[in-house]
Amino acid sequence: KTIQVELAEKRYPIHIGSGLFEKLPQFLEGIGWGRERRLMLVADSHVSPLYAERVLKPLEQAGFTVGQITHPAGEESKSLHTLERLVEDCIRFGLDRSGAVLALGGGVTGDLAGFLAASYMRGIPFIQLPTTLLAHDSSVGGKVGVNHPLGKNMIGAFHQPAMVVFDTDVLKTLPEREILSGCAEVVKHALIWDASFADWLMEHHRQLMALEPEVTAEAIERGCRVKAAVVSQDEKESGIRAILNYGHTIGHALESVSGYGAFTHGEAVAVGMAGAALLGEALGTATEVFPFTRELLAAFRLPTHLSPVWAEEELLAAMKRDKKAKKGAYTFVLPTGIGSVVLQHGVEEAAIREVLARLR
Ligand code: NAD
Ligand code: ZN
Repeated sequence: KTIQVELAEKRYPIHIGSGLFEKLPQFLEGIGWGRERRLMLVADSHVSPLYAERVLKPLEQAGFTVGQITHPAGEESKSLHTLERLVEDCIRFGLDRSGAVLALGGGVTGDLAGFLAASYMRGIPFIQLPTTLLAHDSSVGGKVGVNHPLGKNMIGAFHQPAMVVFDTDVLKTLPEREILSGCAEVVKHALIWDASFADWLMEHHRQLMALEPEVTAEAIERGCRVKAAVVSQDEKESGIRAILNYGHTIGHALESVSGYGAFTHGEAVAVGMAGAALLGEALGTATEVFPFTRELLAAFRLPTHLSPVWAEEELLAAMKRDKKAKKGAYTFVLPTGIGSVVLQHGVEEAAIREVLARLR
Protein backbone atom coordinates (compact mmCIF):
# COMPACT_ATOMS: atom_id res chain seq x y z
CA LYS A 1 0.00 0.00 0.00
CA THR A 2 1.23 3.47 -0.79
CA ILE A 3 0.00 6.75 0.63
CA GLN A 4 1.04 10.17 -0.67
CA VAL A 5 1.76 12.98 1.76
CA GLU A 6 0.92 16.30 0.09
CA LEU A 7 2.58 19.38 1.52
CA ALA A 8 2.66 22.92 0.16
CA GLU A 9 6.02 22.57 -1.56
CA LYS A 10 6.62 18.88 -1.34
CA ARG A 11 5.02 15.48 -1.67
CA TYR A 12 6.42 12.15 -0.60
CA PRO A 13 5.29 8.54 -0.62
CA ILE A 14 4.74 6.24 2.37
CA HIS A 15 5.05 2.58 1.38
CA ILE A 16 3.58 0.07 3.84
CA GLY A 17 3.72 -3.71 3.55
CA SER A 18 5.62 -6.96 3.75
CA GLY A 19 9.04 -7.55 2.13
CA LEU A 20 9.55 -3.92 1.16
CA PHE A 21 13.24 -3.54 2.06
CA GLU A 22 14.06 -5.76 -0.92
CA LYS A 23 12.35 -3.22 -3.13
CA LEU A 24 14.36 -0.27 -1.84
CA PRO A 25 16.39 0.18 -5.06
CA GLN A 26 13.11 0.44 -7.01
CA PHE A 27 11.65 2.89 -4.51
CA LEU A 28 14.80 5.04 -4.70
CA GLU A 29 14.53 5.06 -8.47
CA GLY A 30 10.92 6.12 -8.02
CA ILE A 31 12.01 9.31 -6.26
CA GLY A 32 14.80 9.86 -8.75
CA TRP A 33 17.76 8.80 -6.64
CA GLY A 34 20.63 7.25 -8.61
CA ARG A 35 23.62 5.18 -7.53
CA GLU A 36 25.88 8.21 -7.42
CA ARG A 37 24.12 9.28 -4.22
CA ARG A 38 26.12 8.03 -1.24
CA LEU A 39 23.92 6.78 1.56
CA MET A 40 24.54 6.61 5.30
CA LEU A 41 22.47 4.03 7.16
CA VAL A 42 21.85 4.91 10.82
CA ALA A 43 20.43 2.31 13.23
CA ASP A 44 20.60 1.56 16.94
CA SER A 45 22.42 -1.31 18.64
CA HIS A 46 19.30 -3.52 18.77
CA VAL A 47 18.08 -2.89 15.25
CA SER A 48 21.39 -2.90 13.41
CA PRO A 49 22.28 -6.58 14.00
CA LEU A 50 18.70 -7.59 13.19
CA TYR A 51 17.96 -5.59 10.04
CA ALA A 52 20.87 -3.53 8.68
CA GLU A 53 21.87 -6.35 6.33
CA ARG A 54 18.35 -6.56 4.93
CA VAL A 55 18.58 -2.92 3.91
CA LEU A 56 22.23 -2.92 2.82
CA LYS A 57 22.18 -5.99 0.63
CA PRO A 58 19.66 -4.98 -2.02
CA LEU A 59 21.12 -1.47 -2.16
CA GLU A 60 24.70 -2.69 -2.57
CA GLN A 61 23.59 -5.21 -5.17
CA ALA A 62 22.00 -2.36 -7.07
CA GLY A 63 25.34 -0.53 -6.98
CA PHE A 64 24.80 1.98 -4.16
CA THR A 65 27.62 2.89 -1.77
CA VAL A 66 26.23 2.69 1.75
CA GLY A 67 28.00 3.61 4.98
CA GLN A 68 26.77 2.44 8.34
CA ILE A 69 26.54 3.94 11.82
CA THR A 70 25.25 2.18 14.92
CA HIS A 71 24.34 4.20 18.00
CA PRO A 72 23.43 2.81 21.43
CA ALA A 73 19.72 1.90 21.74
CA GLY A 74 17.58 4.04 24.03
CA GLU A 75 16.22 7.55 24.49
CA GLU A 76 19.58 8.72 25.95
CA SER A 77 20.98 8.55 22.43
CA LYS A 78 18.65 11.32 21.30
CA SER A 79 21.31 13.81 22.39
CA LEU A 80 23.68 16.42 20.99
CA HIS A 81 26.50 14.21 22.16
CA THR A 82 25.41 11.32 19.92
CA LEU A 83 24.66 13.73 17.09
CA GLU A 84 28.24 15.00 17.21
CA ARG A 85 29.52 11.44 16.86
CA LEU A 86 27.23 10.79 13.91
CA VAL A 87 28.43 13.96 12.20
CA GLU A 88 32.01 12.83 12.66
CA ASP A 89 31.25 9.45 11.07
CA CYS A 90 29.51 11.15 8.14
CA ILE A 91 32.49 13.45 7.53
CA ARG A 92 34.91 10.53 7.68
CA PHE A 93 32.72 8.59 5.24
CA GLY A 94 32.92 11.54 2.87
CA LEU A 95 29.20 12.25 2.88
CA ASP A 96 28.58 15.53 1.08
CA ARG A 97 25.51 17.49 0.04
CA SER A 98 24.75 15.00 -2.71
CA GLY A 99 24.46 12.24 -0.10
CA ALA A 100 21.53 11.13 2.04
CA VAL A 101 20.69 9.51 5.36
CA LEU A 102 18.65 6.35 5.88
CA ALA A 103 17.06 6.23 9.35
CA LEU A 104 16.40 2.58 10.20
CA GLY A 105 14.68 2.18 13.55
CA GLY A 106 12.12 3.44 15.99
CA GLY A 107 11.33 7.01 16.91
CA VAL A 108 14.67 7.51 18.60
CA THR A 109 16.71 6.75 15.48
CA GLY A 110 14.16 8.52 13.27
CA ASP A 111 14.35 11.73 15.30
CA LEU A 112 18.13 11.56 15.73
CA ALA A 113 19.09 10.57 12.18
CA GLY A 114 16.43 12.92 10.83
CA PHE A 115 18.00 15.79 12.74
CA LEU A 116 21.41 14.70 11.51
CA ALA A 117 20.02 15.02 7.97
CA ALA A 118 18.39 18.37 8.76
CA SER A 119 21.60 19.89 10.07
CA TYR A 120 24.46 18.10 8.29
CA MET A 121 25.96 20.57 5.79
CA ARG A 122 22.81 22.70 6.31
CA GLY A 123 20.56 19.85 5.35
CA ILE A 124 20.61 16.77 3.16
CA PRO A 125 17.70 14.48 2.25
CA PHE A 126 16.75 11.43 4.28
CA ILE A 127 14.49 8.40 4.20
CA GLN A 128 12.61 6.94 7.13
CA LEU A 129 12.65 3.16 7.51
CA PRO A 130 10.51 2.72 10.65
CA THR A 131 10.90 -0.50 12.65
CA THR A 132 8.51 0.07 15.55
CA LEU A 133 4.74 0.40 15.50
CA LEU A 134 5.12 3.76 17.23
CA ALA A 135 7.29 4.95 14.37
CA HIS A 136 4.25 4.98 12.04
CA ASP A 137 3.69 8.26 13.90
CA SER A 138 7.23 9.60 14.27
CA SER A 139 8.38 8.78 10.72
CA VAL A 140 5.69 10.87 9.04
CA GLY A 141 5.48 14.64 9.38
CA GLY A 142 9.06 15.90 9.44
CA LYS A 143 9.55 16.68 13.12
CA VAL A 144 13.12 15.69 13.96
CA GLY A 145 15.35 16.51 16.89
CA VAL A 146 17.18 15.58 20.04
CA ASN A 147 16.62 16.08 23.77
CA HIS A 148 18.37 18.49 26.13
CA PRO A 149 18.96 17.48 29.77
CA LEU A 150 16.38 20.17 30.69
CA GLY A 151 13.69 19.02 28.30
CA LYS A 152 12.58 16.52 25.69
CA ASN A 153 12.78 17.47 22.00
CA MET A 154 14.19 20.90 22.87
CA ILE A 155 16.55 20.99 19.88
CA GLY A 156 15.16 20.17 16.49
CA ALA A 157 13.87 21.11 13.08
CA PHE A 158 11.14 20.50 10.57
CA HIS A 159 12.73 18.36 7.89
CA GLN A 160 10.43 16.17 5.80
CA PRO A 161 11.70 12.77 4.67
CA ALA A 162 11.96 12.13 0.94
CA MET A 163 10.10 8.86 1.49
CA VAL A 164 8.92 6.48 4.21
CA VAL A 165 9.26 2.72 3.70
CA PHE A 166 7.54 0.69 6.41
CA ASP A 167 8.41 -2.99 6.04
CA THR A 168 5.99 -4.58 8.49
CA ASP A 169 8.00 -7.85 8.66
CA VAL A 170 10.40 -6.25 11.14
CA LEU A 171 7.73 -5.79 13.79
CA LYS A 172 7.91 -9.50 14.72
CA THR A 173 11.00 -8.99 16.87
CA LEU A 174 9.60 -6.03 18.80
CA PRO A 175 9.28 -6.57 22.56
CA GLU A 176 5.60 -6.85 23.48
CA ARG A 177 5.66 -3.69 25.57
CA GLU A 178 6.91 -1.73 22.56
CA ILE A 179 4.07 -3.12 20.43
CA LEU A 180 1.54 -1.92 22.97
CA SER A 181 3.30 1.43 23.22
CA GLY A 182 2.88 1.82 19.46
CA CYS A 183 -0.78 0.85 19.75
CA ALA A 184 -1.27 3.90 21.98
CA GLU A 185 -0.34 6.24 19.11
CA VAL A 186 -2.56 4.29 16.72
CA VAL A 187 -5.41 4.75 19.20
CA LYS A 188 -4.52 8.45 19.44
CA HIS A 189 -4.87 8.89 15.68
CA ALA A 190 -8.29 7.27 15.79
CA LEU A 191 -9.49 9.27 18.81
CA ILE A 192 -8.54 12.66 17.35
CA TRP A 193 -9.78 12.17 13.80
CA ASP A 194 -11.78 9.10 12.91
CA ALA A 195 -14.52 7.51 15.01
CA SER A 196 -14.93 4.60 12.58
CA PHE A 197 -11.21 3.87 12.95
CA ALA A 198 -11.70 3.82 16.73
CA ASP A 199 -14.56 1.31 16.40
CA TRP A 200 -12.47 -0.76 13.98
CA LEU A 201 -9.61 -0.82 16.53
CA MET A 202 -12.02 -1.94 19.24
CA GLU A 203 -13.06 -4.83 16.98
CA HIS A 204 -9.54 -5.76 15.87
CA HIS A 205 -7.44 -5.09 18.97
CA ARG A 206 -6.52 -8.75 19.44
CA GLN A 207 -5.33 -9.18 15.85
CA LEU A 208 -3.34 -5.95 16.05
CA MET A 209 -1.66 -6.91 19.32
CA ALA A 210 -0.80 -10.29 17.73
CA LEU A 211 0.56 -8.42 14.68
CA GLU A 212 -1.72 -10.27 12.29
CA PRO A 213 -0.31 -8.98 8.94
CA GLU A 214 -3.46 -7.62 7.24
CA VAL A 215 -4.76 -5.90 10.35
CA THR A 216 -1.34 -4.48 11.22
CA ALA A 217 -0.86 -3.02 7.75
CA GLU A 218 -4.36 -1.54 7.81
CA ALA A 219 -3.85 -0.02 11.28
CA ILE A 220 -0.56 1.55 10.19
CA GLU A 221 -2.09 2.80 6.98
CA ARG A 222 -5.08 4.39 8.70
CA GLY A 223 -2.82 5.91 11.37
CA CYS A 224 -0.47 7.33 8.72
CA ARG A 225 -3.44 8.74 6.79
CA VAL A 226 -4.56 10.70 9.85
CA LYS A 227 -1.04 11.93 10.51
CA ALA A 228 -0.54 12.89 6.85
CA ALA A 229 -3.91 14.67 6.69
CA VAL A 230 -3.17 16.76 9.77
CA VAL A 231 0.41 17.57 8.76
CA SER A 232 -0.56 18.58 5.24
CA GLN A 233 -2.92 21.18 6.70
CA ASP A 234 -0.28 22.62 9.02
CA GLU A 235 3.29 21.54 8.34
CA LYS A 236 5.00 23.81 10.89
CA GLU A 237 2.49 23.51 13.74
CA SER A 238 1.04 26.98 13.74
CA GLY A 239 -2.43 25.61 14.41
CA ILE A 240 -4.24 22.34 13.85
CA ARG A 241 -1.11 20.17 13.96
CA ALA A 242 -1.09 20.65 17.74
CA ILE A 243 -4.00 18.18 17.99
CA LEU A 244 -1.44 15.41 17.43
CA ASN A 245 -0.31 16.18 20.98
CA TYR A 246 -3.52 14.63 22.32
CA GLY A 247 -2.66 12.94 25.61
CA HIS A 248 0.86 14.33 25.49
CA THR A 249 0.53 17.18 28.02
CA ILE A 250 0.02 14.82 30.93
CA GLY A 251 1.99 12.11 29.09
CA HIS A 252 5.15 14.19 28.70
CA ALA A 253 4.87 15.33 32.33
CA LEU A 254 4.66 11.71 33.44
CA GLU A 255 7.67 10.75 31.32
CA SER A 256 9.59 13.69 32.71
CA VAL A 257 8.89 13.08 36.44
CA SER A 258 9.48 9.34 36.08
CA GLY A 259 12.83 9.99 34.41
CA TYR A 260 12.03 8.45 30.99
CA GLY A 261 12.31 4.88 32.21
CA ALA A 262 9.27 3.75 34.16
CA PHE A 263 6.87 4.26 31.25
CA THR A 264 7.12 3.71 27.55
CA HIS A 265 6.08 6.78 25.57
CA GLY A 266 2.82 5.07 24.62
CA GLU A 267 1.98 4.13 28.19
CA ALA A 268 2.48 7.71 29.32
CA VAL A 269 0.35 9.00 26.44
CA ALA A 270 -2.37 6.46 27.28
CA VAL A 271 -2.65 7.86 30.80
CA GLY A 272 -2.62 11.32 29.23
CA MET A 273 -5.51 10.47 26.88
CA ALA A 274 -7.55 9.09 29.78
CA GLY A 275 -6.82 12.37 31.59
CA ALA A 276 -7.74 14.49 28.55
CA ALA A 277 -11.05 12.61 28.26
CA LEU A 278 -11.86 13.30 31.91
CA LEU A 279 -10.80 16.93 31.55
CA GLY A 280 -12.96 17.36 28.45
CA GLU A 281 -15.96 16.02 30.32
CA ALA A 282 -15.22 18.26 33.32
CA LEU A 283 -14.90 21.38 31.14
CA GLY A 284 -17.90 20.45 29.01
CA THR A 285 -16.18 20.08 25.61
CA ALA A 286 -17.52 16.52 25.45
CA THR A 287 -19.81 14.11 27.23
CA GLU A 288 -19.38 10.39 27.77
CA VAL A 289 -15.98 10.05 26.10
CA PHE A 290 -14.09 8.66 29.07
CA PRO A 291 -15.75 5.21 29.21
CA PHE A 292 -14.99 4.35 25.57
CA THR A 293 -11.50 5.87 25.79
CA ARG A 294 -10.69 3.80 28.85
CA GLU A 295 -12.18 0.65 27.35
CA LEU A 296 -10.19 1.02 24.13
CA LEU A 297 -6.92 1.70 25.95
CA ALA A 298 -7.54 -1.17 28.35
CA ALA A 299 -8.20 -3.49 25.39
CA PHE A 300 -4.61 -2.76 24.36
CA ARG A 301 -3.50 -3.40 27.96
CA LEU A 302 -2.44 0.23 28.28
CA PRO A 303 -2.58 2.08 31.62
CA THR A 304 -5.37 4.57 32.28
CA HIS A 305 -4.51 5.39 35.87
CA LEU A 306 -1.78 7.20 37.76
CA SER A 307 0.01 5.54 40.60
CA PRO A 308 0.28 7.76 43.72
CA VAL A 309 4.06 7.58 43.32
CA TRP A 310 3.86 10.44 40.83
CA ALA A 311 3.09 13.53 42.89
CA GLU A 312 0.58 16.08 41.63
CA GLU A 313 2.89 19.05 42.29
CA GLU A 314 5.71 17.54 40.27
CA LEU A 315 3.40 16.68 37.38
CA LEU A 316 2.00 20.23 37.32
CA ALA A 317 5.50 21.70 37.46
CA ALA A 318 6.52 19.50 34.52
CA MET A 319 3.43 20.60 32.56
CA LYS A 320 4.38 24.24 33.19
CA ARG A 321 7.84 23.63 31.77
CA ASP A 322 6.26 22.08 28.68
CA LYS A 323 6.96 24.40 25.78
CA LYS A 324 3.25 24.60 25.01
CA ALA A 325 2.34 26.13 28.39
CA LYS A 326 1.98 29.91 28.39
CA LYS A 327 2.10 32.10 31.52
CA GLY A 328 0.62 29.68 34.03
CA ALA A 329 -2.37 28.85 31.83
CA TYR A 330 -2.29 25.39 30.36
CA THR A 331 -3.03 24.39 26.81
CA PHE A 332 -4.73 21.06 26.28
CA VAL A 333 -6.08 19.10 23.35
CA LEU A 334 -9.55 18.09 24.54
CA PRO A 335 -12.08 15.71 23.02
CA THR A 336 -15.30 17.04 21.54
CA GLY A 337 -16.42 13.46 20.94
CA ILE A 338 -14.84 10.16 19.91
CA GLY A 339 -12.91 10.99 16.75
CA SER A 340 -12.69 14.76 17.19
CA VAL A 341 -10.78 17.16 19.39
CA VAL A 342 -10.27 20.87 19.98
CA LEU A 343 -7.24 22.88 21.08
CA GLN A 344 -8.15 24.60 24.34
CA HIS A 345 -6.03 27.44 25.76
CA GLY A 346 -6.16 28.81 29.28
CA VAL A 347 -7.19 25.62 31.07
CA GLU A 348 -7.14 26.36 34.79
CA GLU A 349 -4.96 24.54 37.23
CA ALA A 350 -7.85 23.64 39.54
CA ALA A 351 -9.52 21.59 36.79
CA ILE A 352 -6.28 19.74 36.08
CA ARG A 353 -5.75 19.01 39.78
CA GLU A 354 -9.21 17.48 39.95
CA VAL A 355 -8.53 15.26 36.95
CA LEU A 356 -5.16 14.15 38.31
CA ALA A 357 -6.93 13.15 41.52
CA ARG A 358 -9.60 11.24 39.60
CA LEU A 359 -6.91 9.38 37.65
CA ARG A 360 -5.61 7.81 40.84
P1 NAD B 1 12.84 3.45 20.12
O1 NAD B 1 13.31 3.96 18.84
O2 NAD B 1 13.76 3.60 21.28
O3 NAD B 1 12.47 1.90 19.98
C1 NAD B 1 12.03 1.19 21.11
C2 NAD B 1 12.93 -0.02 21.39
O4 NAD B 1 12.68 -1.04 20.44
C3 NAD B 1 14.43 0.27 21.31
O5 NAD B 1 15.07 -0.48 22.30
C4 NAD B 1 14.79 -0.27 19.93
O6 NAD B 1 16.15 -0.66 19.87
C5 NAD B 1 13.89 -1.44 19.80
N1 NAD B 1 13.52 -1.83 18.44
C6 NAD B 1 13.17 -0.99 17.44
N2 NAD B 1 12.74 -1.69 16.39
C7 NAD B 1 12.83 -2.99 16.73
C8 NAD B 1 12.50 -4.19 16.07
N3 NAD B 1 11.94 -4.20 14.85
N4 NAD B 1 12.75 -5.36 16.71
C9 NAD B 1 13.27 -5.36 17.96
N5 NAD B 1 13.56 -4.26 18.64
C10 NAD B 1 13.34 -3.08 18.04
O7 NAD B 1 11.47 4.12 20.56
P2 NAD B 1 10.07 4.37 19.82
O8 NAD B 1 9.05 3.98 20.80
O9 NAD B 1 9.99 3.79 18.46
O10 NAD B 1 10.06 5.95 19.65
C11 NAD B 1 10.06 6.82 20.75
C12 NAD B 1 10.67 8.12 20.32
O11 NAD B 1 9.93 8.66 19.24
C13 NAD B 1 10.67 9.19 21.40
O12 NAD B 1 11.94 9.77 21.47
C14 NAD B 1 9.65 10.20 20.92
O13 NAD B 1 9.95 11.52 21.34
C15 NAD B 1 9.76 10.05 19.44
N6 NAD B 1 8.57 10.49 18.70
C16 NAD B 1 8.73 11.38 17.69
C17 NAD B 1 7.65 11.83 16.97
C18 NAD B 1 7.83 12.76 15.81
O14 NAD B 1 6.86 13.25 15.26
N7 NAD B 1 9.05 13.04 15.43
C19 NAD B 1 6.37 11.34 17.25
C20 NAD B 1 6.22 10.41 18.28
C21 NAD B 1 7.34 10.00 19.00
ZN1 ZN C 1 3.74 10.60 20.92
